[in-house]
Amino acid sequence: MPGKITFTMVKPEATTSGLAAKILSMITDSGFRIIALKMIRLSKEQASAFYEVHKDRPFYNDLVEYMISGPVIAAILRKDNAVEDYRRMMGATDPAKADEGTIRKLFATSIQSNAIHGSDSDENAITESNFFFPEIERFY
Ligand code: GDP
Repeated sequence: MPGKITFTMVKPEATTSGLAAKILSMITDSGFRIIALKMIRLSKEQASAFYEVHKDRPFYNDLVEYMISGPVIAAILRKDNAVEDYRRMMGATDPAKADEGTIRKLFATSIQSNAIHGSDSDENAITESNFFFPEIERFY
């Protein structure tokens, strides 16, 4: 179902500071349906693999260390135009540049600790969903 799902994670600082329920309720209030959900602490190998596309960026090691510093809440979200609509709701990578009312503007503390991840294309939404969730854990 290309175009109908996106993948998100509530990142460690947002999860451990008790923001996950608020973020998830913003997500469902905006018309996304949660079709898979889990809380998990990534291993270094998993985080490195998930962010492999960034392996040549200067922040890669810091990003991997940050993403394994605590639990994340991973979810697959379903909605028409899911990827684009969720990117708009997330806000810019750097919360200082994020629009008012976006999740990152409201909850992010820095460009790295920016509250949530969201897929940036339909193709990545499928790859990232498959990374975390087998079919048996999805409820369309
Ligand atoms: P996103 O799609 O908005 O999440 O942004 P990117 O795909 O470009 O980057 C992935 C993640 O790497 C971001 O969400 C941040 O957590 C982190 N990141 C991006 N740019 C920087 C940076 O300049 N410095 C640091 N420390 N982290 C960054």
